Amino acid sequence: MVCEKNVCACSYCYTMVEGKCEASDRKVLILGAGMAGVSAAKALGDNGCENVQILEGSDRIGGRAKSVNVSGYTMELGAQWIYGLGSNPVAILAQKYGLQMIEDFDTWVVRDDNGTNVTQTADDEWYNLVDILEKVKVFARKMDKNGSPDITTQALLRKFGWTPDTNVKKAVEVYELDTESGRETPSLSGKYLDHLSVFEIHGNDQWMISSDPRGLSYIISELYKELPSNYTTSFNQVIKKIKNKNGKVEVETEGGTKYEADDVIVTFSLGVLQSRQVSFKPALSEEKMLAIDKFGFGEYTIAYFEFSDAFWDNVSTLVYASARHGENSIWYNMNTIYPGCNILQLTLMGFEANAASHLNDNEVKESGMAALAAMYPQLSIPQPDAFVRSDWLTNPLTKGSFSYWTPAFRPEDRMNLGKSEGNIHFAGEHLGLKTHGFLNSAYNSGQDTAQRLARSVRN
Ligand SMILES: Cc1cc2nc3c(=O)[nH]c(=O)nc-3n(C[C@H](O)[C@H](O)[C@H](O)COP(=O)(O)OP(=O)(O)OC[C@H]3O[C@@H](n4cnc5c(N)ncnc54)[C@H](O)[C@@H]3O)c2cc1C
Repeated sequence: MVCEKNVCACSYCYTMVEGKCEASDRKVLILGAGMAGVSAAKALGDNGCENVQILEGSDRIGGRAKSVNVSGYTMELGAQWIYGLGSNPVAILAQKYGLQMIEDFDTWVVRDDNGTNVTQTADDEWYNLVDILEKVKVFARKMDKNGSPDITTQALLRKFGWTPDTNVKKAVEVYELDTESGRETPSLSGKYLDHLSVFEIHGNDQWMISSDPRGLSYIISELYKELPSNYTTSFNQVIKKIKNKNGKVEVETEGGTKYEADDVIVTFSLGVLQSRQVSFKPALSEEKMLAIDKFGFGEYTIAYFEFSDAFWDNVSTLVYASARHGENSIWYNMNTIYPGCNILQLTLMGFEANAASHLNDNEVKESGMAALAAMYPQLSIPQPDAFVRSDWLTNPLTKGSFSYWTPAFRPEDRMNLGKSEGNIHFAGEHLGLKTHGFLNSAYNSGQDTAQRLARSVRN
Protein backbone atom coordinates (compact mmCIF):
# COMPACT_ATOMS: atom_id res chain seq x y z
CA MET A 1 0.00 0.00 0.00
CA VAL A 2 1.28 3.49 -0.78
CA CYS A 3 0.40 6.09 1.79
CA GLU A 4 -1.81 8.69 0.18
CA LYS A 5 -0.43 11.46 2.34
CA ASN A 6 3.12 10.22 1.82
CA VAL A 7 4.08 10.89 5.44
CA CYS A 8 4.96 8.44 8.18
CA ALA A 9 2.73 9.71 10.95
CA CYS A 10 -0.71 9.14 9.44
CA SER A 11 -2.85 6.28 10.71
CA TYR A 12 -2.51 4.40 7.41
CA CYS A 13 1.22 4.57 7.32
CA TYR A 14 3.95 2.53 9.02
CA THR A 15 7.58 3.33 8.42
CA MET A 16 7.80 4.57 4.87
CA VAL A 17 10.37 2.69 2.84
CA GLU A 18 10.77 4.09 -0.64
CA GLY A 19 7.18 5.28 -0.65
CA LYS A 20 5.75 1.96 0.55
CA CYS A 21 4.53 0.99 3.98
CA GLU A 22 7.02 -1.46 5.43
CA ALA A 23 4.27 -3.26 7.30
CA SER A 24 2.47 -4.13 4.10
CA ASP A 25 5.16 -6.70 3.34
CA ARG A 26 4.89 -8.48 6.65
CA LYS A 27 2.83 -11.63 6.56
CA VAL A 28 0.25 -11.94 9.33
CA LEU A 29 -1.62 -15.15 10.11
CA ILE A 30 -4.88 -14.86 12.02
CA LEU A 31 -5.84 -18.09 13.75
CA GLY A 32 -9.62 -18.39 14.06
CA ALA A 33 -12.45 -16.85 12.05
CA GLY A 34 -14.82 -15.91 14.86
CA MET A 35 -15.71 -12.30 15.61
CA ALA A 36 -12.24 -11.50 17.04
CA GLY A 37 -10.40 -12.96 14.04
CA VAL A 38 -12.55 -11.21 11.45
CA SER A 39 -12.43 -7.93 13.35
CA ALA A 40 -8.61 -8.21 13.59
CA ALA A 41 -8.42 -8.85 9.83
CA LYS A 42 -10.62 -5.83 9.14
CA ALA A 43 -8.41 -3.60 11.30
CA LEU A 44 -5.24 -4.90 9.62
CA GLY A 45 -6.79 -4.13 6.25
CA ASP A 46 -7.74 -0.65 7.42
CA ASN A 47 -4.13 -0.15 8.53
CA GLY A 48 -2.61 -1.11 5.22
CA CYS A 49 -1.46 -4.67 5.88
CA GLU A 50 -1.66 -6.49 2.58
CA ASN A 51 -0.36 -9.94 3.38
CA VAL A 52 -2.91 -11.57 5.68
CA GLN A 53 -4.23 -15.11 5.83
CA ILE A 54 -6.87 -16.54 8.17
CA LEU A 55 -6.67 -20.18 9.29
CA GLU A 56 -9.85 -21.63 10.74
CA GLY A 57 -10.28 -25.06 12.32
CA SER A 58 -13.93 -25.51 11.34
CA ASP A 59 -15.59 -25.16 7.93
CA ARG A 60 -17.25 -21.82 8.64
CA ILE A 61 -16.92 -18.22 9.74
CA GLY A 62 -18.54 -17.10 13.00
CA GLY A 63 -17.11 -19.27 15.81
CA ARG A 64 -19.41 -19.01 18.80
CA ALA A 65 -22.02 -17.13 16.75
CA LYS A 66 -23.76 -20.06 15.10
CA SER A 67 -27.33 -20.70 14.08
CA VAL A 68 -29.21 -23.88 13.28
CA ASN A 69 -32.40 -24.61 11.41
CA VAL A 70 -35.08 -26.07 13.67
CA SER A 71 -38.11 -27.11 11.63
CA GLY A 72 -37.71 -24.21 9.24
CA TYR A 73 -36.80 -21.55 11.84
CA THR A 74 -33.35 -20.08 12.45
CA MET A 75 -32.32 -20.58 16.06
CA GLU A 76 -29.07 -19.46 17.67
CA LEU A 77 -26.86 -22.02 19.38
CA GLY A 78 -24.40 -19.36 20.61
CA ALA A 79 -24.63 -15.57 20.79
CA GLN A 80 -28.14 -14.22 20.27
CA TRP A 81 -28.48 -11.02 22.32
CA ILE A 82 -26.95 -7.61 21.68
CA TYR A 83 -26.68 -5.70 24.94
CA GLY A 84 -26.55 -1.95 25.52
CA LEU A 85 -27.36 -0.59 22.10
CA GLY A 86 -25.79 2.87 22.51
CA SER A 87 -22.16 2.47 21.48
CA ASN A 88 -22.02 -1.32 21.27
CA PRO A 89 -20.05 -1.92 18.05
CA VAL A 90 -22.03 -5.07 17.33
CA ALA A 91 -25.29 -3.10 17.53
CA ILE A 92 -23.77 -0.56 15.16
CA LEU A 93 -22.76 -3.32 12.73
CA ALA A 94 -26.21 -4.95 13.07
CA GLN A 95 -27.82 -1.68 12.04
CA LYS A 96 -25.35 -1.16 9.22
CA TYR A 97 -26.00 -4.62 7.75
CA GLY A 98 -29.76 -4.53 8.35
CA LEU A 99 -29.95 -7.43 10.81
CA GLN A 100 -33.52 -8.03 11.96
CA MET A 101 -33.80 -7.78 15.73
CA ILE A 102 -36.52 -7.66 18.37
CA GLU A 103 -36.44 -5.52 21.48
CA ASP A 104 -37.81 -5.91 25.02
CA PHE A 105 -37.93 -9.66 25.35
CA ASP A 106 -38.59 -9.64 29.06
CA THR A 107 -41.78 -10.98 30.65
CA TRP A 108 -41.77 -14.11 32.78
CA VAL A 109 -43.82 -16.71 34.60
CA VAL A 110 -42.18 -18.72 37.35
CA ARG A 111 -43.61 -22.13 38.28
CA ASP A 112 -42.49 -24.47 41.03
CA ASP A 113 -42.24 -28.26 40.88
CA ASN A 114 -45.94 -28.62 41.79
CA GLY A 115 -46.90 -26.44 38.85
CA THR A 116 -47.90 -23.57 41.15
CA ASN A 117 -47.49 -20.13 39.60
CA VAL A 118 -45.08 -18.41 42.00
CA THR A 119 -44.37 -15.38 39.82
CA GLN A 120 -45.49 -12.86 42.45
CA THR A 121 -43.01 -14.24 44.99
CA ALA A 122 -40.33 -14.40 42.31
CA ASP A 123 -40.98 -10.74 41.37
CA ASP A 124 -40.48 -9.71 45.02
CA GLU A 125 -37.31 -11.78 45.30
CA TRP A 126 -35.99 -10.41 42.02
CA TYR A 127 -36.42 -6.79 43.22
CA ASN A 128 -34.73 -7.79 46.45
CA LEU A 129 -31.78 -9.35 44.59
CA VAL A 130 -31.40 -6.37 42.26
CA ASP A 131 -31.28 -4.01 45.29
CA ILE A 132 -28.66 -6.22 46.92
CA LEU A 133 -26.60 -6.34 43.72
CA GLU A 134 -26.51 -2.54 43.74
CA LYS A 135 -25.06 -2.66 47.28
CA VAL A 136 -22.60 -5.34 46.18
CA LYS A 137 -21.49 -3.11 43.32
CA VAL A 138 -20.84 -0.11 45.59
CA PHE A 139 -18.99 -2.28 48.11
CA ALA A 140 -16.94 -3.96 45.35
CA ARG A 141 -15.78 -0.56 44.11
CA LYS A 142 -14.66 0.29 47.65
CA MET A 143 -12.79 -3.03 47.89
CA ASP A 144 -11.05 -2.26 44.65
CA LYS A 145 -10.10 1.24 45.77
CA ASN A 146 -8.77 -0.03 49.12
CA GLY A 147 -6.90 -2.90 47.50
CA SER A 148 -8.85 -5.45 49.58
CA PRO A 149 -8.47 -9.07 48.53
CA ASP A 150 -11.24 -10.42 46.32
CA ILE A 151 -13.98 -12.73 47.61
CA THR A 152 -16.71 -14.63 45.81
CA THR A 153 -19.96 -13.12 44.55
CA GLN A 154 -21.73 -15.62 46.79
CA ALA A 155 -19.95 -14.22 49.87
CA LEU A 156 -20.80 -10.62 48.96
CA LEU A 157 -24.43 -11.52 48.32
CA ARG A 158 -24.58 -13.18 51.74
CA LYS A 159 -23.00 -10.13 53.35
CA PHE A 160 -25.85 -7.99 52.05
CA GLY A 161 -28.58 -10.45 53.04
CA TRP A 162 -29.13 -12.70 50.02
CA THR A 163 -29.18 -16.44 50.67
CA PRO A 164 -30.85 -18.60 48.02
CA ASP A 165 -32.61 -20.80 50.59
CA THR A 166 -35.89 -21.35 48.73
CA ASN A 167 -36.55 -22.85 45.31
CA VAL A 168 -37.86 -19.51 44.08
CA LYS A 169 -34.75 -17.65 45.25
CA LYS A 170 -32.52 -20.24 43.57
CA ALA A 171 -34.42 -19.78 40.31
CA VAL A 172 -34.21 -15.98 40.59
CA GLU A 173 -30.46 -16.19 41.16
CA VAL A 174 -30.02 -18.45 38.12
CA TYR A 175 -32.12 -16.08 36.00
CA GLU A 176 -30.25 -12.95 37.08
CA LEU A 177 -26.68 -14.15 37.53
CA ASP A 178 -25.87 -17.62 36.16
CA THR A 179 -27.28 -16.71 32.76
CA GLU A 180 -24.82 -13.83 32.53
CA SER A 181 -21.64 -15.74 33.31
CA GLY A 182 -22.42 -19.39 32.62
CA ARG A 183 -21.31 -20.18 36.16
CA GLU A 184 -22.68 -20.21 39.74
CA THR A 185 -21.91 -17.44 42.28
CA PRO A 186 -19.36 -19.41 44.39
CA SER A 187 -17.04 -19.35 41.33
CA LEU A 188 -17.45 -15.67 40.44
CA SER A 189 -15.38 -12.71 41.59
CA GLY A 190 -17.25 -10.40 43.97
CA LYS A 191 -14.96 -7.46 43.31
CA TYR A 192 -15.05 -7.64 39.52
CA LEU A 193 -18.51 -9.12 38.94
CA ASP A 194 -19.44 -6.00 36.97
CA HIS A 195 -23.03 -7.19 36.81
CA LEU A 196 -24.68 -5.80 33.66
CA SER A 197 -21.86 -3.28 33.23
CA VAL A 198 -22.15 -3.85 29.47
CA PHE A 199 -25.20 -1.57 29.59
CA GLU A 200 -23.40 1.21 31.47
CA ILE A 201 -20.39 0.98 29.19
CA HIS A 202 -22.45 1.29 26.05
CA GLY A 203 -24.65 4.00 27.52
CA ASN A 204 -27.97 2.32 26.92
CA ASP A 205 -30.01 -0.21 28.92
CA GLN A 206 -31.83 -1.77 25.97
CA TRP A 207 -31.08 -5.16 24.52
CA MET A 208 -32.11 -6.84 21.32
CA ILE A 209 -32.38 -10.43 20.22
CA SER A 210 -31.69 -11.50 16.65
CA SER A 211 -34.83 -12.47 14.76
CA ASP A 212 -33.03 -12.67 11.45
CA PRO A 213 -33.41 -15.85 9.38
CA ARG A 214 -29.77 -15.34 8.27
CA GLY A 215 -28.67 -15.74 11.91
CA LEU A 216 -26.60 -13.42 14.08
CA SER A 217 -23.37 -14.65 12.44
CA TYR A 218 -24.58 -12.78 9.33
CA ILE A 219 -22.96 -9.69 10.89
CA ILE A 220 -19.59 -11.46 10.96
CA SER A 221 -20.02 -12.73 7.40
CA GLU A 222 -20.81 -9.20 6.22
CA LEU A 223 -17.79 -7.78 8.07
CA TYR A 224 -15.73 -10.53 6.44
CA LYS A 225 -16.89 -9.35 3.00
CA GLU A 226 -15.25 -5.99 3.74
CA LEU A 227 -11.76 -7.50 4.01
CA PRO A 228 -9.29 -6.67 1.24
CA SER A 229 -9.88 -8.98 -1.73
CA ASN A 230 -6.37 -10.45 -1.58
CA TYR A 231 -6.85 -11.76 1.98
CA THR A 232 -7.31 -15.53 1.98
CA THR A 233 -8.95 -17.94 4.41
CA SER A 234 -8.23 -21.64 4.73
CA PHE A 235 -10.86 -23.74 6.51
CA ASN A 236 -10.55 -27.09 8.33
CA GLN A 237 -7.05 -26.13 9.46
CA VAL A 238 -6.93 -27.27 13.09
CA ILE A 239 -3.75 -25.79 14.55
CA LYS A 240 -1.76 -27.98 16.91
CA LYS A 241 1.65 -26.27 17.14
CA ILE A 242 2.82 -22.66 17.15
CA LYS A 243 6.58 -22.04 17.08
CA ASN A 244 8.51 -18.77 17.39
CA LYS A 245 11.52 -19.39 15.17
CA ASN A 246 14.29 -16.93 14.18
CA GLY A 247 12.01 -13.94 14.20
CA LYS A 248 9.28 -15.80 12.27
CA VAL A 249 6.35 -17.84 13.52
CA GLU A 250 5.62 -21.33 12.20
CA VAL A 251 2.16 -22.78 12.62
CA GLU A 252 1.40 -26.46 12.09
CA THR A 253 -1.99 -28.12 11.65
CA GLU A 254 -3.04 -31.54 12.93
CA GLY A 255 -2.64 -32.78 9.35
CA GLY A 256 1.00 -31.61 9.32
CA THR A 257 0.57 -28.59 7.01
CA LYS A 258 2.94 -25.78 7.95
CA TYR A 259 2.46 -22.05 7.51
CA GLU A 260 5.03 -19.33 8.21
CA ALA A 261 4.46 -15.68 9.00
CA ASP A 262 6.10 -12.64 10.56
CA ASP A 263 3.27 -12.28 13.07
CA VAL A 264 0.42 -14.46 14.27
CA ILE A 265 -2.78 -13.39 16.03
CA VAL A 266 -4.25 -16.25 18.08
CA THR A 267 -8.00 -15.90 18.69
CA PHE A 268 -8.73 -19.34 20.17
CA SER A 269 -11.17 -19.37 23.08
CA LEU A 270 -9.85 -19.32 26.62
CA GLY A 271 -11.13 -22.91 26.94
CA VAL A 272 -8.95 -24.02 24.03
CA LEU A 273 -5.90 -22.28 25.55
CA GLN A 274 -6.60 -23.81 28.97
CA SER A 275 -6.94 -27.30 27.47
CA ARG A 276 -3.34 -27.18 26.12
CA GLN A 277 -4.37 -28.89 22.91
CA VAL A 278 -2.27 -26.31 21.05
CA SER A 279 1.44 -26.38 21.97
CA PHE A 280 3.66 -23.27 21.92
CA LYS A 281 7.40 -23.39 21.40
CA PRO A 282 9.04 -21.83 23.30
CA ALA A 283 6.35 -22.43 25.92
CA LEU A 284 4.25 -19.41 26.80
CA SER A 285 5.65 -17.53 29.80
CA GLU A 286 4.70 -18.69 33.27
CA GLU A 287 2.78 -15.48 34.02
CA LYS A 288 0.79 -15.83 30.79
CA MET A 289 -0.13 -19.46 31.50
CA LEU A 290 -1.08 -18.55 35.06
CA ALA A 291 -3.37 -15.81 33.75
CA ILE A 292 -4.92 -18.24 31.23
CA ASP A 293 -5.51 -20.79 33.98
CA LYS A 294 -6.82 -18.30 36.55
CA PHE A 295 -9.47 -16.68 34.34
CA GLY A 296 -12.74 -18.62 34.18
CA PHE A 297 -14.46 -20.21 31.20
CA GLY A 298 -18.17 -20.84 31.61
CA GLU A 299 -20.41 -23.67 30.54
CA TYR A 300 -23.66 -22.84 28.80
CA THR A 301 -25.80 -25.21 26.78
CA ILE A 302 -28.77 -24.32 24.62
CA ALA A 303 -31.40 -26.88 23.61
CA TYR A 304 -34.46 -26.40 21.41
CA PHE A 305 -37.74 -28.30 21.79
CA GLU A 306 -40.28 -27.94 18.99
CA PHE A 307 -43.90 -28.84 19.79
CA SER A 308 -47.09 -29.07 17.77
CA ASP A 309 -48.81 -26.54 20.08
CA ALA A 310 -47.75 -23.80 22.46
CA PHE A 311 -49.13 -25.28 25.70
CA TRP A 312 -47.11 -22.90 27.92
CA ASP A 313 -47.79 -19.44 29.39
CA ASN A 314 -47.75 -16.69 26.79
CA VAL A 315 -44.70 -14.82 28.11
CA SER A 316 -41.14 -14.53 26.86
CA THR A 317 -39.46 -16.54 29.66
CA LEU A 318 -40.65 -19.50 31.70
CA VAL A 319 -38.65 -20.21 34.83
CA TYR A 320 -38.73 -23.53 36.64
CA ALA A 321 -38.21 -23.17 40.40
CA SER A 322 -36.92 -26.60 41.32
CA ALA A 323 -35.11 -27.81 44.43
CA ARG A 324 -31.83 -28.30 42.51
CA HIS A 325 -30.06 -25.05 41.61
CA GLY A 326 -30.32 -24.43 37.87
CA GLU A 327 -32.11 -27.69 37.02
CA ASN A 328 -33.83 -27.00 33.67
CA SER A 329 -34.55 -23.51 35.00
CA ILE A 330 -34.67 -21.14 32.04
CA TRP A 331 -36.96 -21.59 29.05
CA TYR A 332 -37.27 -18.88 26.39
CA ASN A 333 -40.48 -18.86 24.42
CA MET A 334 -39.29 -18.57 20.82
CA ASN A 335 -42.84 -17.68 19.70
CA THR A 336 -41.90 -14.20 20.91
CA ILE A 337 -39.42 -14.04 18.04
CA TYR A 338 -41.04 -16.25 15.44
CA PRO A 339 -44.80 -16.32 16.20
CA GLY A 340 -46.23 -19.79 15.68
CA CYS A 341 -42.90 -21.63 15.70
CA ASN A 342 -43.90 -23.38 18.96
CA ILE A 343 -40.30 -23.79 20.02
CA LEU A 344 -38.94 -23.52 23.56
CA GLN A 345 -35.27 -22.82 24.17
CA LEU A 346 -33.84 -24.43 27.31
CA THR A 347 -30.61 -22.95 28.68
CA LEU A 348 -28.40 -24.84 31.11
CA MET A 349 -25.53 -23.13 32.88
CA GLY A 350 -22.53 -24.15 34.99
CA PHE A 351 -22.77 -27.55 36.69
CA GLU A 352 -26.07 -28.33 34.96
CA ALA A 353 -24.51 -27.68 31.54
CA ASN A 354 -21.53 -29.79 32.54
CA ALA A 355 -23.76 -32.66 33.70
CA ALA A 356 -25.75 -32.48 30.44
CA SER A 357 -22.54 -32.76 28.41
CA HIS A 358 -22.22 -36.33 29.73
CA LEU A 359 -25.77 -37.24 28.66
CA ASN A 360 -27.03 -38.20 25.23
CA ASP A 361 -29.68 -36.15 23.40
CA ASN A 362 -32.48 -38.39 24.56
CA GLU A 363 -31.49 -38.08 28.20
CA VAL A 364 -31.29 -34.25 28.00
CA LYS A 365 -34.65 -34.20 26.23
CA GLU A 366 -36.26 -36.47 28.87
CA SER A 367 -34.86 -34.35 31.68
CA GLY A 368 -36.30 -31.19 30.08
CA MET A 369 -39.64 -32.88 29.48
CA ALA A 370 -39.81 -33.92 33.15
CA ALA A 371 -39.35 -30.26 34.15
CA LEU A 372 -42.13 -29.15 31.78
CA ALA A 373 -44.41 -31.89 33.14
CA ALA A 374 -43.74 -30.63 36.68
CA MET A 375 -44.48 -27.05 35.64
CA TYR A 376 -47.74 -28.00 33.90
CA PRO A 377 -49.02 -31.07 35.82
CA GLN A 378 -52.59 -30.70 34.56
CA LEU A 379 -51.46 -31.11 30.91
CA SER A 380 -50.47 -34.15 28.97
CA ILE A 381 -47.48 -32.76 27.07
CA PRO A 382 -46.67 -34.50 23.78
CA GLN A 383 -43.09 -35.42 22.88
CA PRO A 384 -41.35 -32.65 20.92
CA ASP A 385 -41.32 -33.02 17.13
CA ALA A 386 -37.74 -31.76 17.01
CA PHE A 387 -34.89 -31.50 19.50
CA VAL A 388 -31.50 -29.82 18.87
CA ARG A 389 -28.77 -28.82 21.32
CA SER A 390 -25.39 -27.08 21.30
CA ASP A 391 -22.06 -28.80 21.99
CA TRP A 392 -19.80 -25.90 23.09
CA LEU A 393 -18.31 -27.80 26.00
CA THR A 394 -17.37 -30.96 24.12
CA ASN A 395 -16.36 -29.22 20.88
CA PRO A 396 -12.51 -29.15 20.79
CA LEU A 397 -12.64 -25.78 18.99
CA THR A 398 -14.44 -24.07 21.91
CA LYS A 399 -14.19 -26.19 25.12
CA GLY A 400 -16.84 -24.09 26.89
CA SER A 401 -18.98 -21.02 26.37
CA PHE A 402 -17.52 -17.63 27.40
CA SER A 403 -15.17 -16.19 30.00
CA TYR A 404 -15.90 -14.94 33.50
CA TRP A 405 -13.78 -13.25 36.19
CA THR A 406 -12.78 -15.59 39.04
CA PRO A 407 -11.90 -14.47 42.59
CA ALA A 408 -8.26 -15.54 42.02
CA PHE A 409 -7.83 -13.39 38.91
CA ARG A 410 -6.16 -9.97 39.35
CA PRO A 411 -5.99 -6.91 37.09
CA GLU A 412 -2.27 -7.65 36.56
CA ASP A 413 -3.25 -11.14 35.32
CA ARG A 414 -5.45 -9.38 32.80
CA MET A 415 -2.35 -7.57 31.45
CA ASN A 416 -0.48 -10.86 31.16
CA LEU A 417 -3.44 -12.55 29.50
CA GLY A 418 -3.33 -10.02 26.67
CA LYS A 419 0.44 -9.60 26.32
CA SER A 420 2.13 -10.65 23.08
CA GLU A 421 4.87 -13.28 23.32
CA GLY A 422 7.45 -12.56 20.68
CA ASN A 423 5.57 -12.27 17.41
CA ILE A 424 2.58 -14.17 18.77
CA HIS A 425 -0.34 -11.88 19.65
CA PHE A 426 -3.65 -12.70 21.28
CA ALA A 427 -7.27 -11.62 20.84
CA GLY A 428 -10.70 -12.95 21.73
CA GLU A 429 -13.72 -12.21 23.87
CA HIS A 430 -11.71 -12.98 27.04
CA LEU A 431 -9.50 -9.98 26.11
CA GLY A 432 -12.23 -7.40 25.50
CA LEU A 433 -11.11 -3.94 26.60
CA LYS A 434 -13.97 -3.04 28.92
CA THR A 435 -16.11 -6.16 28.92
CA HIS A 436 -15.40 -9.83 28.41
CA GLY A 437 -17.63 -12.68 27.34
CA PHE A 438 -19.61 -10.88 24.65
CA LEU A 439 -19.51 -10.57 20.88
CA ASN A 440 -18.67 -6.89 21.34
CA SER A 441 -15.74 -7.91 23.58
CA ALA A 442 -14.42 -10.14 20.77
CA TYR A 443 -14.88 -7.37 18.22
CA ASN A 444 -13.05 -4.78 20.36
CA SER A 445 -10.27 -7.18 21.23
CA GLY A 446 -9.60 -8.20 17.61
CA GLN A 447 -9.52 -4.58 16.53
CA ASP A 448 -7.31 -3.53 19.43
CA THR A 449 -4.75 -6.31 18.96
CA ALA A 450 -4.50 -5.63 15.22
CA GLN A 451 -4.09 -1.90 15.79
CA ARG A 452 -1.41 -2.50 18.43
CA LEU A 453 0.42 -4.82 16.03
CA ALA A 454 0.26 -2.19 13.30
CA ARG A 455 1.49 0.48 15.72
CA SER A 456 4.37 -1.63 17.01
CA VAL A 457 5.52 -2.31 13.46
CA ARG A 458 5.28 1.39 12.67
CA ASN A 459 7.35 2.30 15.73
C1 LIG B 1 -24.12 -20.45 24.29
C2 LIG B 1 -23.53 -19.07 24.12
C3 LIG B 1 -24.35 -17.97 24.21
C4 LIG B 1 -23.82 -16.69 24.02
N1 LIG B 1 -24.65 -15.61 24.06
C5 LIG B 1 -24.16 -14.39 23.76
C6 LIG B 1 -25.05 -13.31 23.59
O1 LIG B 1 -26.27 -13.46 23.69
N2 LIG B 1 -24.51 -12.07 23.32
C7 LIG B 1 -23.16 -11.89 23.18
O2 LIG B 1 -22.73 -10.76 22.92
N3 LIG B 1 -22.31 -12.93 23.30
C8 LIG B 1 -22.78 -14.17 23.58
N4 LIG B 1 -21.94 -15.23 23.64
C9 LIG B 1 -20.49 -14.99 23.57
C10 LIG B 1 -20.02 -14.79 22.12
O3 LIG B 1 -20.55 -15.76 21.30
C11 LIG B 1 -18.50 -14.86 22.13
O4 LIG B 1 -18.00 -13.93 23.07
C12 LIG B 1 -17.85 -14.54 20.79
O5 LIG B 1 -18.55 -15.14 19.73
C13 LIG B 1 -16.42 -15.00 20.84
O6 LIG B 1 -15.75 -14.65 19.64
P1 LIG B 1 -14.19 -14.99 19.50
O7 LIG B 1 -13.80 -14.60 18.14
O8 LIG B 1 -13.45 -14.44 20.66
O9 LIG B 1 -14.09 -16.56 19.68
P2 LIG B 1 -14.73 -17.73 18.74
O10 LIG B 1 -16.03 -17.29 18.19
O11 LIG B 1 -14.67 -18.93 19.59
O12 LIG B 1 -13.68 -17.80 17.55
C14 LIG B 1 -12.49 -18.55 17.64
C15 LIG B 1 -12.34 -19.33 16.35
O13 LIG B 1 -11.13 -20.10 16.47
C16 LIG B 1 -11.34 -21.39 15.92
N5 LIG B 1 -10.41 -22.32 16.55
C17 LIG B 1 -10.38 -22.73 17.84
N6 LIG B 1 -9.36 -23.57 18.05
C18 LIG B 1 -8.72 -23.70 16.86
C19 LIG B 1 -7.57 -24.42 16.43
N7 LIG B 1 -6.87 -25.21 17.25
N8 LIG B 1 -7.19 -24.31 15.13
C20 LIG B 1 -7.88 -23.52 14.26
N9 LIG B 1 -8.97 -22.81 14.62
C21 LIG B 1 -9.39 -22.90 15.91
C22 LIG B 1 -12.79 -21.70 16.26
O14 LIG B 1 -13.33 -22.67 15.38
C23 LIG B 1 -13.47 -20.33 16.12
O15 LIG B 1 -14.00 -20.15 14.83
C24 LIG B 1 -22.44 -16.54 23.79
C25 LIG B 1 -21.62 -17.65 23.69
C26 LIG B 1 -22.15 -18.92 23.84
C27 LIG B 1 -21.26 -20.11 23.71
